[in-house]
Amino acid sequence: MEPAAPALEGGYVVSVLMNSRKNSVQAQRFAERRRREDDAPRLQDQVPGLVSLKLDIEDRTSVGGNTHTRHVVIDRAPALFLVACGDSRCVDGEHDLTSTVMRALRAHETSFHGEDECRGSLGPSSCLRVLRFDAVAEYRT
Ligand SMILES: [Zn+2]
Repeated sequence: MEPAAPALEGGYVVSVLMNSRKNSVQAQRFAERRRREDDAPRLQDQVPGLVSLKLDIEDRTSVGGNTHTRHVVIDRAPALFLVACGDSRCVDGEHDLTSTVMRALRAHETSFHGEDECRGSLGPSSCLRVLRFDAVAEYRT
């Protein structure tokens, strides 16, 4: 799933809601995240002059990893960077990259990276996924 595309996002909500009850927690979490994104200040207001932002996100486990790229739409993006844990069985797994990303953007850094360990749980054990991101940003001069 590519969260940056609104059309796909809408489709995702519908398909989750139409699924059985076991997905209702995920749907709720998704709706909650949407609400927080809607409530957050706009990225454009927080970082005037930001022209583009791209995040290469890698979700790693001991056996491998997934990567995806998130192109942030500066015009309407919230100043909030939340990435769900890549493991759908993970409970409460969420990476909040907001403070790391915002600090770098406010300092007008053009490339920066960070890492966040998942604090969620998989049944009785902790989720061991680590999320790593590389960001590239452009600013108006
Ligand atoms: Zn996790």
